[in-house]
Amino acid sequence: MINYTERIALLMHDVVLRTPRLSFIDLKEVIVFGRFGRTDAEGAFATCHCLTLPESEPGYYFWRDRSTGELTRRSEWFVTKSPAVRIADMQVKYLISFVLPRFCDQSLERSRKGDLYPGAPAWLAKLDTIVHELYHIDPDESGIRRVARSDGTDSPRSHGPLFYEEVATMVNGYLASKPDPALYDFLQDDFGGLTARHGGVVGTTFRNFPSFPQRYTEAMSPPSGVRPDAASVRVEALKPASQPSRYTEDDLSTHHFLENGARRLTRKGQHRAA
Ligand SMILES: [Zn+2]
Repeated sequence: MINYTERIALLMHDVVLRTPRLSFIDLKEVIVFGRFGRTDAEGAFATCHCLTLPESEPGYYFWRDRSTGELTRRSEWFVTKSPAVRIADMQVKYLISFVLPRFCDQSLERSRKGDLYPGAPAWLAKLDTIVHELYHIDPDESGIRRVARSDGTDSPRSHGPLFYEEVATMVNGYLASKPDPALYDFLQDDFGGLTARHGGVVGTTFRNFPSFPQRYTEAMSPPSGVRPDAASVRVEALKPASQPSRYTEDDLSTHHFLENGARRLTRKGQHRAA
């Protein structure tokens, strides 16, 4: 079977090496992993998740009486934090997820990106997505790259046409640098082709699949200087955390991705004496 996320990670090493604008990226601080998503369902092909965002300001959820506007109920105070992920003693700063098998079937033909690559083969959409996610890594380490609009202001939410054009320039620049086709050949097959050629598609996942390291809330006592609540305000406990706040290499797993789901693979030698 083909380990698809490992192949993407290998290709990323070569892309970073040959693309000056991405050369600041240290891929030891990045984990590439798989999430499940059907080809025929709507949704993302890939996502860049930042683990270095600072802890949020303290806050709480609240409810008001509709007629008087008075606070009737609130949650405990909490902060939102990023989980800590350490692999071989390195702090991981970004996770890049690929949605499988959907990503394997991404094609320029059904994409707005087609205009950026006139006459290019359909699989180039996948290389574009890989470079796109790398380009989200912020050289200032402040999170996900904020996208400058053409007027110079920041647009943290939308990409803007410039982002797509810059990614296309990097993709074309990478291919023009004559990389070894063995590094990107695997992108030419769709999911059916990969399955026929390799007998299956596997990828790195986290042990709590389908979950993965995500921002979480942590309850705290009210910050100093906060006025006590009126007696009529009910304070509700937050739901206890259901996912870990720390991850290591022991939390990595491997899944076999199928058209309609994913199955955990047990690697040889993975069973330890309990
Ligand atoms: Zn994006």
